[in-house]
Amino acid sequence: MSFSATAKAEVCRTNTGKECCEMAELSALIHTAGSISISGGAFSLRVDTENAAVARRVFALIKSLYGVQADTQRHTNQMKHNHIYSLSVDKAVARMMAIDAHILSDEGLEFGGDSSFLTSRCCRIAFVRGAFLGGGSITNPEKRYHLEFVCGQKEFAQGLLNIIVELGVTAKMILRGKNHVVYIKEGDAIVTLLTMMGAHTSILNIENIRILKSVRNNVNRKVNCETGNLSKTVNASVRQQESIEYIRTHMGLDKLSPALKQVAEARISYPEATLEELASLLGAESKSGINHKLRKLNSIAEHLKKTRGE
Ligand SMILES: [Zn+2]
Repeated sequence: MSFSATAKAEVCRTNTGKECCEMAELSALIHTAGSISISGGAFSLRVDTENAAVARRVFALIKSLYGVQADTQRHTNQMKHNHIYSLSVDKAVARMMAIDAHILSDEGLEFGGDSSFLTSRCCRIAFVRGAFLGGGSITNPEKRYHLEFVCGQKEFAQGLLNIIVELGVTAKMILRGKNHVVYIKEGDAIVTLLTMMGAHTSILNIENIRILKSVRNNVNRKVNCETGNLSKTVNASVRQQESIEYIRTHMGLDKLSPALKQVAEARISYPEATLEELASLLGAESKSGINHKLRKLNSIAEHLKKTRGE
């Protein structure tokens, strides 16, 4: 099962809540997954979904709110190798549902411009839940963080965006083909929204992936950092070797103090050794002692160069 389908199945296992919330959720489901047709004055309403858990959820919501069993049909989609579940109710109930869902008013059909019926926070969350079940999807967070709601009507998309933003989640909207897409691209925002909708296991999965990602980033950073230090060591060592060779050629290492000569010879013998490694090679020497002597060798070479007019 895709990450999306798993998250939806999980959201479907949450309690439908109070009647106000059930209506809010069903309204968003109808807006995102429903279709309405009016022919010869007969009104019909159908909800289509590829997700069996969502189909059961719609069935349960209709039963709880209207006390009827929706007619449920399963079609096989040969092209996409999946099933489509279609739920419909008789025309009297369909009409009532459309009015309650704020799709049908005295002025005719409307598409979600009006969200004033979502008075409480619980209903607004239920509305977002319904929109997610009907038109939402979430990308596998191992690839990238992306949760979106595909909406056919601009008014509905705008209303949904406002509700999500009011709930404190950063979201945006774009036009894709003829659909209006409300989307969230930030890991924290996706986790917040899934938490509100009750997809707790999916959140744990996202959090695990986030931890893995951050561990991976830290490891990369550490490797880069160590590579940086290594090249610093190598550069410093090259300069020290040049200084020592210059001293050997123009002055002779024997003219150095025994301690300096010892460090100079160790550096030439172990060009890749770090200060710590040189210190331990030379026994009693401390890292800062070695560092001091290598600097001294550099400055002797500089001085020699100057006196030779180079
Ligand atoms: Zn409510």
